[in-house]
Amino acid sequence: MYAPIPPDPAAPSVRVNLYSDTQTRPTRAMRAAMLDAEVGDEQLSLDPTVNALCARVAVLLGKEAAMFLPSGAMCNSVAILTHCRPGDEIIAHETAHIIEAEGGAPWALAGARVLGLSGPRGMFTVDDLRSVLRSPSRYSAPQTLLAIEQTSNLGGGAVWALDTLHSLAAVARDHGMATHMDGARLMNAVVASGIKASDFTAGFDTVWIDFTKGLGAPLGAVLAGSADMIGRAWRWKQRLGGSLRQAGICAAGCLYALDHHVDRLAEDHANAKRLAEGLSRIPGLTVETPETNLVYADVAASGRDPAGWADALRAQGIMVSVMGRTRLRLCTHLDITRADIDETIMAFAAIRAIWL
Ligand SMILES: *Cc1c(COP(=O)(O)O)cnc(C)c1O
Repeated sequence: MYAPIPPDPAAPSVRVNLYSDTQTRPTRAMRAAMLDAEVGDEQLSLDPTVNALCARVAVLLGKEAAMFLPSGAMCNSVAILTHCRPGDEIIAHETAHIIEAEGGAPWALAGARVLGLSGPRGMFTVDDLRSVLRSPSRYSAPQTLLAIEQTSNLGGGAVWALDTLHSLAAVARDHGMATHMDGARLMNAVVASGIKASDFTAGFDTVWIDFTKGLGAPLGAVLAGSADMIGRAWRWKQRLGGSLRQAGICAAGCLYALDHHVDRLAEDHANAKRLAEGLSRIPGLTVETPETNLVYADVAASGRDPAGWADALRAQGIMVSVMGRTRLRLCTHLDITRADIDETIMAFAAIRAIWL
């Protein structure tokens, strides 16, 4: 799905990096906040800055407890390992990051398979979920976890409706399943909808947010859940080598992001809309209307494949990602300005004009 573009020594340096919202560089102010962080031994829960971050995220997400981890992928793996046993089945959307982009971790690490449901915008309905639930038997794999992405990445940054999330969680719970929310971009959903994070996460046993997706931190994600759940998750964190030492220096960047980089996600959403509108006027491009900061453009009707577009843009200092056989993804973030958006739209138009 993801196709990183290998560095071409002859290509100009990247001026507009729309490849991912992970491409942000920590700002001077964030670095300054990190410099002064109080630190201790995180593995012993003695790092005051990590503890402050976890306490704050637990409240934000309406959970009892939280743990700091180096990455979002590790949050998913720790949560899956804590919820599931070998042979279990996880239910998710077929485009879920845990299926597409984590090296097969649920299968490899937890021995759990992921059943992917289909549906537009990375979403499925309560009926879709009900249709795959089986009554437990000695023949079938135990269905133990429902995993949802808010927002859906390959679904175009789409925001799940609150009542759908709550209905899905209730159906899963009635079936004896645990519920997990991959909230890599949960704060985008919060800013786009005006709905509180803790409302979205109510009914989910575990949820995490990522500080490297548009929030501008160099690393870090926080997984939240009940005190019991997070207590059990600590053994998996230790087993995976995710226990840290003076991690407060990184947590300080995450706290800075919560204070300064959440509300401004609205700018990224406005830039994404502007980009989508501009690109949709270019013949041959089919652009999905963005709800948050991800813009997907299908280039099938342009007569060129996504890699051709990505190379031509790269030659102009603009970096985008190729998603599958027909789509490009462009992510807006902290380091993308409105002028960058306009430059990108003009570059697309110029490339098309040359190809005609
Ligand atoms: C990026 C992403 C992850 C993984 O997060 P990392 O911090 O890059 O490990 C997981 N889920 C979704 C939906 C993502 O977009």
